[in-house]
Amino acid sequence: MEGCTLCPRMCGVDRSVAVGYCGSGVTVKAARAAKHHWEEPCISGTKGSGTVFFSGCTLGCVFCQNREISRGGIGIELTAEQLAEVFQRLENQGVHNLNLVTPTHFTPQILQAISIAKPSVPIVMNTGGYELVETLRKWEGTVDIYLPDLKYVSAQLSGTYSAAPNYFEMASRAILEMHRQQPKLVWEGDLLKKGLIVRHLVLPGCVQDSLAVLEFLDKHLPKDSFLLSLMSQYTPTPVCAAHKAINRRVTTYEYRKVADRAAELGFSGFAQDLRSAKEEYTPPFDLEGL
Ligand code: SF4
Repeated sequence: MEGCTLCPRMCGVDRSVAVGYCGSGVTVKAARAAKHHWEEPCISGTKGSGTVFFSGCTLGCVFCQNREISRGGIGIELTAEQLAEVFQRLENQGVHNLNLVTPTHFTPQILQAISIAKPSVPIVMNTGGYELVETLRKWEGTVDIYLPDLKYVSAQLSGTYSAAPNYFEMASRAILEMHRQQPKLVWEGDLLKKGLIVRHLVLPGCVQDSLAVLEFLDKHLPKDSFLLSLMSQYTPTPVCAAHKAINRRVTTYEYRKVADRAAELGFSGFAQDLRSAKEEYTPPFDLEGL
């Protein structure tokens, strides 16, 4: 196998014999495949989103709520045929879409499984935003809804908290590519069928950077062509104890400042209620559905 260059880490390792930064070998590993009701309402709908959580991650966020699968290695290895069966079982449960959480490092294997399963529901790519345009082009024609984060603009913040000083450089280009592929919102009632939703989690003490994220989106994407999902659920993890500045929740003042600016700029989308800042959004990674 050639050296892996699927994500901006560009490790170049042969994953058939070693793992790269993402901690993943050549075989797909996933930790849960189940209905999820905690995504944005236009994704979860009434029947839930068919969410598959893949193990490993190309980012290294100190506040990751899924650390046991992103860095802990929990999960079951699946062949492309087995993953296709997982997709089919989810679809048979009547979910509104198949929601691939952190799929980048398994791009070829997941695309193969999708070509076997031939799902009839929309495919959602749910990612931290740290993507290469070249890899996103492999997903073109398969992904119906892009659901990336845009976490930071500041290289200092992204370097300190996600081990990715070039995060904005990569994520900003990635979001423009996602928008090129899905340039408008396509609805069926209250459900989104195609389009782009950009998520932004407000971090404590980082209001200026959140405002810079909003400015970027304001400047580069037409407002009626995508949705903004502003998130207040930041919860410090034990790893955050080493990062005093973010070892607390976001205050009402901080969140309001960002939410007010988003409203002022006229974005469409969702703004989480600050009271929803609790950990119930993290499902148990108990290998359900695999
Ligand atoms: S997907 Fe993994 S192995 Fe490949 S370049 Fe990224 S971090 Fe490295």
